[in-house]
Amino acid sequence: MILTETNVRHNFSAGPCILPKEVFKEASEAVVNFNGSGLSILEISHRSPDFVSVMEEARNLVKEILKVPDNYEVLFLQGGASLGFYISALNFLNSKAGYINTGAWSTKAIKEAKLVGEILELASSKDRNFSYIPKFDIIPEGLSYVHYTSNNTIHGTQFNSTPKSENVICDMSSDIFSKEINVSDYALIYAGAQKNLGPAGTTLYIVNKDLLGKTENTIPSMLDLQVHISKDSMFNTPPVFSVYTSMLTLRWLKSLGGLSEIENINNKKAEILYKEIDRNPLFEGTAAIESRSKMNATFVLTNDTLTDKFDDMWKSAGINGIKGHRSVGGYRASLYNALPVSSVEVLISVMQELEKQA
Ligand SMILES: *Cc1c(COP(=O)(O)O)cnc(C)c1O
Repeated sequence: MILTETNVRHNFSAGPCILPKEVFKEASEAVVNFNGSGLSILEISHRSPDFVSVMEEARNLVKEILKVPDNYEVLFLQGGASLGFYISALNFLNSKAGYINTGAWSTKAIKEAKLVGEILELASSKDRNFSYIPKFDIIPEGLSYVHYTSNNTIHGTQFNSTPKSENVICDMSSDIFSKEINVSDYALIYAGAQKNLGPAGTTLYIVNKDLLGKTENTIPSMLDLQVHISKDSMFNTPPVFSVYTSMLTLRWLKSLGGLSEIENINNKKAEILYKEIDRNPLFEGTAAIESRSKMNATFVLTNDTLTDKFDDMWKSAGINGIKGHRSVGGYRASLYNALPVSSVEVLISVMQELEKQA
């Protein structure tokens, strides 16, 4: 019976998050003996042919899996998406940019961009605690770019279309590689690795090279995307383990069938979980139905007195990481790529068992 199975962990953590078991195994072996060299990946030069080929394969897998056009560059940098907020503004903002504010991460992106230029908030869902994706019909002229957060990790909402504007910049930290996208819709995509790509420590940038070098901003070398491009992502020592593990995860994704296949699996997980949230009278989703995220499902108990009982039940079923973000409360089940459908089935069975016992 699934509810009493031991040792199996079902990890719904929002980030850092679950990665494929085989990736953890191979990455851990490389820490001890990388490519049969007798040396750890952590102790060799990042300029050695063995590591340079890791960086190249990682960048090439991103290009292949996302069908990145030739005039784009792929970089693995540091600083997290939180530095990406500032890097994107420094590299693209001339005088004015538009931001769609859909939650905690967008709010932080706006704060950083204000250090560089004038920011117009084009739309916001703050009035209802960021529980929906706002409409954004008219985009004014004269903006350097429009910035949005494709998936709102904390609030459990997700865009299902791309804002139509000439230059779009997207923080895709928590849904990149979860579904097919059209990279040519974007001037820049950036994403912290630890949500759906790899361990914390590296941040992916996919940038349209033709649009760089057009600002008057003074850009420090470490924050200048053109500097990183000219050095093939090796301007300084890269986070070698994070890049290597991301590469292994991308290999895994490719072998699974790429984005169309993972999108099917992700759709299935979201569909069965939301179906249960909507069916079971003890639970209620917190995001507007048409804005629901397929990566982070947020929900609450309709009867608070069941909290301790529910928490005991999911913990003893081997479930980890479904407590909601501290700013939102309730529960959040993150359904990233490496989470199997069977783990979602375990969560659903716990929800049903609670209903029976309540
Ligand atoms: C987690 C997250 C961030 C912050 O990422 P860091 O790499 O920790 O800086 C930014 N944006 C979104 C959408 C996130 O989910």
